[in-house]
Amino acid sequence: MVPAIAGDPAGRRARCIGTVYAIAPGTGRMHLADATWTDLDEADVDVALLPVGSTEQHGPHAPLGTDYLTAAAIADSAAEAAKHEVVVAPAVPIGVAEEHRQFTGTMWVTPDTFRAYVREAVESLLGHGWDRVVLVNGHGGNVPAIEEVAARLTRDHDALVAPFTWFEAVDVDLPMGHAGAVETSILLASYPELVHEERFAAAADDGADRWGDWVGSVDLAQDSAAFTDNGAVGDPGEASADVGDTLEEQAREALVSLLDAVLDRSTTTPAHK
Ligand SMILES: [Zn+2]
Repeated sequence: MVPAIAGDPAGRRARCIGTVYAIAPGTGRMHLADATWTDLDEADVDVALLPVGSTEQHGPHAPLGTDYLTAAAIADSAAEAAKHEVVVAPAVPIGVAEEHRQFTGTMWVTPDTFRAYVREAVESLLGHGWDRVVLVNGHGGNVPAIEEVAARLTRDHDALVAPFTWFEAVDVDLPMGHAGAVETSILLASYPELVHEERFAAAADDGADRWGDWVGSVDLAQDSAAFTDNGAVGDPGEASADVGDTLEEQAREALVSLLDAVLDRSTTTPAHK
């Protein structure tokens, strides 16, 4: 356990080492892993968040955990800002990322395994009566899988499960890339200790300008190693903590609005016509 740092409202510095807050009844935000079951049992949980990400190369300058760290940071931030009682589950750290398999340290599971794991993890949350769940995703390769899982769970249960991918909810004048300016900015804002700024120039020089090996509308590359030497796509030199703060704010606001809507909707599926 790491104490929260005064003057750092997002708790972001401590968050890079571990979760910092235990249950805080009445504050609207709880971290499942830090709470006791008895406290959670007494809490009046409105919605649960399950961060999902990936452990995969992010160039020479950013950590392999980028996608689950950013997902967890945005889930935490939204939980803190929400008007409702939100419980944040531990992040799922390994996702659909075989496309980075040639880079040391990358871990992945197949889409089948990932869908099954996320589905069962959410079903365990539903079993506690928490019938509204949002999957907070930080990895592009997980997007089709979380959309399928959310649809399946919503159809099969009296529940509402929604997929949310943070970088689809932001709008800044920078290309997404991979470990490029967008992701590096949010890392600089949330986990600055994990970013190697002195490697930005090399990351851009030996990386790629765009994702894929496109011939017309067809991407011939299955693996990122086919088009980027060091794994990066885009220029992290354009990143800044200020842009990262803007990104985090945009993602947080989008997620808070989604939580409002999820709580506003019915958990029952439409009747047959
Ligand atoms: Zn990423």
